Amino acid sequence: MVNSKFTRRVRTAFAASAGRVGAVPLLVFLVIAGCDLGDEVEGMPAPERTAEFGLVVHGGAGTITRESLTPELEEQYHSALEEALRAGHDILEQGGSALDAVSAAVVVLEDEPLFNAGRGAVFTAEGTNELDAAIMDGRTLDAGAVGGVKRIRNPIELARLVMDESPHVFMVGEGAETFGRQFDVVEVDEDYFYTEARWEALQRALENDGTSSAPSSADDGRMLGTVGAAALDRDGNLAAATSTGGMTAKRFGRVGDVPVIGAGTYANNASCALSATGHGEYFIRNVVSYDICARMLYTGATLEEAADAVIHGVLVEQGGTGGVVAIDASGNIALTMNTPGMYRGHMLAGQDPVTRIYQEE
Ligand code: ASP
Repeated sequence: MVNSKFTRRVRTAFAASAGRVGAVPLLVFLVIAGCDLGDEVEGMPAPERTAEFGLVVHGGAGTITRESLTPELEEQYHSALEEALRAGHDILEQGGSALDAVSAAVVVLEDEPLFNAGRGAVFTAEGTNELDAAIMDGRTLDAGAVGGVKRIRNPIELARLVMDESPHVFMVGEGAETFGRQFDVVEVDEDYFYTEARWEALQRALENDGTSSAPSSADDGRMLGTVGAAALDRDGNLAAATSTGGMTAKRFGRVGDVPVIGAGTYANNASCALSATGHGEYFIRNVVSYDICARMLYTGATLEEAADAVIHGVLVEQGGTGGVVAIDASGNIALTMNTPGMYRGHMLAGQDPVTRIYQEE
């Protein structure tokens, strides 16, 4: 019997090659490779799935310790993550798309001031809020991203519009906001993003730096709270979405990894869908999300192995902190971090939502 990983590769190779070299040489290859064409290619049965559908979410990674959270705050984080999981899961259960599920989950987290995205976005060193977001469709590899927007209540919705309604992938600042206006995207006054906790965090960061330059260390609470989701739907399609205010006291104009496709956000039905959180500069330089998916394709690593190699290997060697939540086409998941904690959760078909905060849980 041909195993499902091999079947998937054959299917991808067949789809990719049929248009270029014609089907005949490929069929010859498949026969030589001992492939049962009737069963595995023409019928193209879905790979065996661990879960028929499901999603994973995160609300940021960093120095989250039991001492730093009260039981009340812990409870608030758990219930916000659960609400996001249920929003996405309801859509998937009713046969909705992975894309709609990740958008819905991220909107819930953007509206929750606890997280550094949408309403609870952190401040730049100048005291402004500049938000980044991205979404990607693993079926088509379509993607939409926005960087440095200041007046959009749910940046993930604007990223979706860039993907669906423009010929572009990535739009920034005023141009992105002007584009969104055509579609009645919800705009808010800049003070919508003012929260006392984030303002105080900025004052602390500026005092520590003694300067308003970009932070040198991420592991001091400045990068907590980015949100994201990755999902598999009943049709076997994957999608990922991520949204953030970036890092406290970042320079204005700084854009992190979140909207950089392949760095903080990536989805490809042939491998996996991921949303990342952490010190963005490291995630950009190491193209973290793409690297994890590519390792699955190129080396045959499982999702968990690929995520471990990048998060605990590549990043740790460089001092890059953070984590990812990911799901593959078979419904396997990975929630991997190299920080003391990551707000995270998963909800697979037929299962209850599971939410976690600390690494050792
Ligand atoms: N990755 C985000 C950024 O660098 C921050 C985070 O994940 O918390 O903008």
